[in-house]
Amino acid sequence: MQKAMASPAGQVRPILQVTEGQRVSDGAGVRMTRLIGTPKLRTLDPFLMLDFFSSETASDYVAGFPDHPHRGFETVTYMLAGRMRHKDNHGHEGVIEPGGIQWMTAGRGVIHSEMPEQAEGLMKGFQLWVNLPARLKMTEPAYFEFGDQALPLEKRDGAIVKVLAGKTSLGTTSPVADTHAGTRYFDVTLAAGQSFSEPTPEETAAIVLFEGAATIAGKGLASPAVAVLGEGDTVEVIAGGQGARFLFLGGRPLREPVAWAGPFVMNNDTQLRQAFAEYQAGRF
Ligand code: MN
Repeated sequence: MQKAMASPAGQVRPILQVTEGQRVSDGAGVRMTRLIGTPKLRTLDPFLMLDFFSSETASDYVAGFPDHPHRGFETVTYMLAGRMRHKDNHGHEGVIEPGGIQWMTAGRGVIHSEMPEQAEGLMKGFQLWVNLPARLKMTEPAYFEFGDQALPLEKRDGAIVKVLAGKTSLGTTSPVADTHAGTRYFDVTLAAGQSFSEPTPEETAAIVLFEGAATIAGKGLASPAVAVLGEGDTVEVIAGGQGARFLFLGGRPLREPVAWAGPFVMNNDTQLRQAFAEYQAGRF
């Protein structure tokens, strides 16, 4: 006899947690909303942090992020408005333009600056931190940079899906496709009253609503908010009367110990002390 199995197909993932994030100031005084990496949502393995900056007030951003180190993880910067110049101690320099993404693997160490390339106007975007597994924490630093035109758009009924990383269920694939945690990162624009549905097999999945209002699994959300999803097969987002724009974020958890001190994210305190010592000795 074969036991009848409950069909998991089409089970909508519920919301485990909603957080509106926290206003923070970081770098040399940049005002932002920290959505992941707060006391309410410390990490969302494999994601360590997500910052959302959006301001037309120059004093909120002009000071930027002067030279600072990173080790042990990746930073993913996505600009929606404004321009950001980055420059590091390995001879890498560039400007991230609106609609563009930079994926930086800090690995064993970089010292870099991230500075606004403007003194007025709107500066808007996200920076996501993706943890590296123990075996890759000391890997060579690396970069991917893709401008707006290089990132594919998938048109659906009532929705436009910009594929920043990974591949959609319909096959649209970002040039950033093969990441260690299988990250899928989409910017979805949904027209008023329309719905977005996506099979979501990855264990870690969240919706980051940043414009308008939406309903997920029967719960109404106002932006900005992060909805962490529970177990199931599919995510469904229904836009409110003014439409909605959100990030879809999915990945495989690492399930490794996290030892985190400021710009260094390692697996234990010995490695953190080593990171500080090597940074201070000028070995990054
Ligand atoms: Mn940085």
